Formats: sequence, structure tokens, C-alpha cells
Amino acid sequence: MKVAIAKERQTGEARVSASPDSVKKMVSLGMTVAVESGAGNGASFSDAAYKEAGAEISKSAKTLLADADVVLRVARPEADEVGDCPKGTLVIGQMNPYQETKKLEALAKQGLTVFALEFLPRISRAQAMDTLSSQANLAGYKAVIDAAAEYGRALPMMMTPAGRINPAKIMVMGAGVAGLQAIATARRLGGRVYATDVRPAAKEQVESLGAEFVAVEDEEFKAAETAGGYAKEMSDAYKKKQAELISESIADMDMVITTAQIPGRPAPRLIDEDMVKSMRPGSVIFDLAAEGGGNCALTQPGKMATKHGVKIIGYQNVPSRLAADASMLYANNLFNFLSLLYDKESKALKVDWEDEVVKGTLLSRDGALVHSRLTGRAE
Ligand code: NAD
Repeated sequence: MKVAIAKERQTGEARVSASPDSVKKMVSLGMTVAVESGAGNGASFSDAAYKEAGAEISKSAKTLLADADVVLRVARPEADEVGDCPKGTLVIGQMNPYQETKKLEALAKQGLTVFALEFLPRISRAQAMDTLSSQANLAGYKAVIDAAAEYGRALPMMMTPAGRINPAKIMVMGAGVAGLQAIATARRLGGRVYATDVRPAAKEQVESLGAEFVAVEDEEFKAAETAGGYAKEMSDAYKKKQAELISESIADMDMVITTAQIPGRPAPRLIDEDMVKSMRPGSVIFDLAAEGGGNCALTQPGKMATKHGVKIIGYQNVPSRLAADASMLYANNLFNFLSLLYDKESKALKVDWEDEVVKGTLLSRDGALVHSRLTGRAE
């Protein structure tokens, strides 16, 4: 069985879908692995390291893909990138399934069997395959590091003969995987940390990291979690109360990290222009929800802008800014997912199409989109 790893061609992507370590594990299970020359450059993995791990290095993506059984991806490929793949080739990665339905249809029509790891069920058995978590964790860390670098002051309290520096006040909005890592990082750097979320389960997690939980804890809040553990979209009345609470606290914050998201929906708007105006000059907002439209009304996706004296960072694809670690974890996630589809005895693919993890992530098969969230059919 041949696994192909080509360069990621989308702009700004430095990650790669396999590491020398994951290649070694695939080869030890009897898979043949081919890597396009230079595919690991952005993540500091050299061709030589892949070769040493047992991969073949290919100069051309075209020949690499022509006889692939499985293609591992960081992001959804364009149809022409995988145009040479045989029908039935498995393409596995993050496919941006809510935004890219038309492009996914094109891949389905090519006869590719596409899996989107964003749809991975959040069950214990699948944790080691969870790319959303591995990447969000790094994004939460990096957002604090980048915001701290833009903040013209120190974060921890310092008592010096020349005077006292007060600890920076940092608010994290959205305490999922990214938010919890942002809280932990901000605490390690000596900040005084506050956090908000709409899911009641977040309160204990926030407090266990030593941050103060700030939220409107009414009846709606108590029921604001779906069976899958995600946040629900809140009512207008709740949003109004939440906005009042945020505007009371935000004026006193030096840094704000926003991570609030609801799968398949635009990012909730949590910070308006008046709230930005109320912040002290030199404060920093890092909007990790920039790709979903932003939690802050003034975020410019992909850029850093200064508005009313506040720096607002809207960088996209933050995990790619830590490409080596992000790729290493992502590659492990993909290896674990691929192991589920592989039979070690026959050294060939053996997919249980009824498996919850397989069913949950399968987007297309036999020329058509099959996932209920894309076809609109109830499960
Ligand atoms: P996410 O990236 O979808 O969203 C980030 C956070 O934003 C969430 O905590 C969400 O509640 C919050 N949010 C949404 N709307 C908000 C609003 N209006 N105001 C404030 N906050 C708002 O979240 P995620 O990191 O993917 O985690 C979502 C859930 O999945 C959590 O319950 C998490 O514990 C769970 N999870 C489970 C596993 C597993 O394998 N079992 C793995 C990862 C995450």
C-alpha cells in the first residue's frame, strides 16, 4: 500500500502531513511511503530525514500521486493537484468542509474517497487522531506569545528599585482547547488571567488553571452545551447581557485573546468598536477566530491593524506559525487515523465503513458526497 505526501501548495502553509517519525511508523507496518522533495522544508524536516526514516523521495508530485492508495494532506487539495490519483484513492486531512462544499464536490466527482478530520467524533477512542485539538492547542499558545511580543510592556509583576511593574491583565474569550492553552500560557508568563465561555463545563476548567471565570451564568447558560460538547448559538437576549458584562471588564484588560467559535457558523461577535475604544492605548487583541469572520468587529483577517491605539491581530493559520511542532502532532494524528483503516496482516487497506470514526469523517465515496452534514440528509 502506497502513501503519498506531496507539498502543500496553498499560500502561507508551512506544515506537512507526515514527519520523519510518522514515516518510520508507517514503514514499520509495511506501508510504502513516498514524499515529494522539499515537502518538509517549512517544518524543518529535510529530504534526508524522510529518506532515513524509510521514505522514497520523489521530484515530481505527478508521479508521486499516480499510483497512490492514500494521500495525506494538511489542507484540502485543489482538484488539479490530485487529478492524477487513481479512482478510489483515499485523501485524508482537514478539508474545511463547511466552507468548501463546491470544491469537495469536484474531488468526489474525480472518484476520490475523501475524509475530513474536522468531523472526527469527539470520543475518547479518537482523541489521538484529533487534529482540531492538536492544532488549536498550539494556536492558543502562539496567540499569547505573539500578543506578548506586540505588547510594549512586561507581563509579570516586577518589584524593582526603579519602580513597580503591575502584572498584565489578560482576558481569554472562549475556553475550548485553544482558550485553555492560552490561559495556561498567559499564567506561565505571569499575567493575571480572566476567561469567559458560554459552556458551563468551561468554568471548572478555567478555574483549575488559576484564572477567574467571568460569564453570565443564567438558565440559558446552564443548558448551553450540545450533546457533542460544543457551544450552542446563544439567544439575542443572552448576547446582550454577555456584551454588557464584557464591556464592563474589557476596559481594564491589557491583552485579549479571543477563540470563540460554533462549528459551521460564523464566529460570534463579542467585541464591538466601542469596547475597543474603551481599552487603554498599547493594549493588544489577538483574534484567533479571524478565519471565521472574527470575534472582534475591527479584526482584519490575515493582518495586524492598530485601531483607537489598540493593536488587533487577525493572523490566519496560526498553527502554521509553529510549523515544526504543528506538523509533528498533525502527522501523529494522521498516522493514528490511517492505522484504523489498515490491516497489519495483509498489509493492505481494510476499511470498516460502519465504524463510528470512519462514518463520522467520510465525505465522499464512489463519485458522490455522502456525509449527511453536506448532503443535508438526516443521519
Ligand atoms: P471550539 O474551537 O469549537 O470553540 C472555542 C470555544 O468557544 C468553546 O469553548 C465554545 O464554548 C466557546 N464559545 C462559543 N460561543 C461563545 C460565545 N458566544 N462566548 C464565549 N465563548 C463561546 O472549541 P473546541 O476547542 O473544539 O472544544 C469544543 C468542545 O469539544 C469542548 O467541550 C471540548 O472539551 C470538547 N473536546 C473534546 C475532545 C475529546 O476528544 N473528547 C477533544 C477536544 C475538544
